[in-house]
Amino acid sequence: MNMRFSSRDCFSQNVEDSIQKNISLATYNTFRFAYRAEFFAIADSLDVLKALLAWASRFKHEVTMIGGGSNLLISGDVKGLVIVNRLTGINAREHSGNLISLTVAAGENWHQLVEFTVNQGWFGLENLALIPGTVGAAPVQNIGAYGVEIKDVLARVQVINRLSGDVYWVNARDCGLAYRDSHFKGKWLSTLLITAVEISLKKQGRLLLTYGGLSDRLPAQPSLKNVFDMVCQVRSEKLPDPKTLANAGSFFKNPIVSQDQHEVLKARFPNLVSFRFEDGFKLAAGWLIDQAGWKGKQFHGVGVYEKQALVLVNYKDETADSLLLLEAEIKQSVYDLYGVNLEREPVQLPSLMYLDHATNLETLN
Ligand SMILES: Cc1cc2nc3c(=O)[nH]c(=O)nc-3n(C[C@H](O)[C@H](O)[C@H](O)COP(=O)(O)OP(=O)(O)OC[C@H]3O[C@@H](n4cnc5c(N)ncnc54)[C@H](O)[C@@H]3O)c2cc1C
Repeated sequence: MNMRFSSRDCFSQNVEDSIQKNISLATYNTFRFAYRAEFFAIADSLDVLKALLAWASRFKHEVTMIGGGSNLLISGDVKGLVIVNRLTGINAREHSGNLISLTVAAGENWHQLVEFTVNQGWFGLENLALIPGTVGAAPVQNIGAYGVEIKDVLARVQVINRLSGDVYWVNARDCGLAYRDSHFKGKWLSTLLITAVEISLKKQGRLLLTYGGLSDRLPAQPSLKNVFDMVCQVRSEKLPDPKTLANAGSFFKNPIVSQDQHEVLKARFPNLVSFRFEDGFKLAAGWLIDQAGWKGKQFHGVGVYEKQALVLVNYKDETADSLLLLEAEIKQSVYDLYGVNLEREPVQLPSLMYLDHATNLETLN
């Protein structure tokens, strides 16, 4: 096998000794489902991460990297090695003119990063406040809120090839960033992990207040800090805090329909909430689910959040079985009513990527 990892040494041995077996993931996912990882380790430096990947590769173990577990639907025990990303470090470079380049390690907390940039007076991330999770997971689904997506500020992504251990930078425009999507969820799923990101912010910038009623609740000339505070306030009013009520945020993506389908739906449902999106329209999935009568419904220990129908919550279940049933029921009823398919937003584990990973390892042998 032609691996480019350095040969094993004392450091690698120590890292391998830190790998634990059969660990509950209940505190590593915000739904708090209590499935187990076959092997489990925390990567707090790039060298540790390389050593972990080399170990997994040597024993042909699948690898799953997780951050804050706030966009996961774990529905079974996870085979192979689960690595929690705790890579830390923030480096800011001020350029002449208006630009700031921030290089941020993937295990940094996203909201703390946003708060740090707002306190510095740098524009660009304020609308993305209070999104849980890590910096490294942000490009995976191209996080977005209040009209801003990470792709609007992302310059480059540093990745590690989980098979070769090579570390390199990829330009953001090559990452396939789209609505709640990227190549990290698709063709790079079984090969690349994100180790850092480079973000471009502005010392003087324009505030975007046209989404989610922000401008109605802000003073006429709001400051950067006003916007950050308002985003935090509105989100806290609408969304359950995963620390007190287990959830993974929006459970469904907003479905995208053609102009024709939108016209038909709008004629039948004049109050339909929708936004222009590329050649068609994005429908508010929360509105569709709410109108189908689901808001606040409870079902065997899980349910639909009473203040926001897009959020499914777990009151007490240790397994994902009831949630999967609830998901299926909601999808069916929305389809029956509007002829629209809802797509899940959180990533399900275990996933089919393991099969791809095993195939890749076989190919290298
Ligand atoms: C209350 C609440 C509100 C939310 N609001 C929003 C919102 O407004 N907008 C939005 O877009 N999302 C939102 N989310 C979803 C979630 O917070 C984001 O998707 C976040 O980026 C997930 O980060 P994480 O570290 O928790 O990722 P995890 O859940 O740990 O992982 C998510 C996926 O990314 C992969 N992954 C994680 N780290 C890496 C890495 N370094 N390299 C490669 N792959 C990796 C994982 O394998 C998994 O497939 C919300 C969630 C909650 C609970």
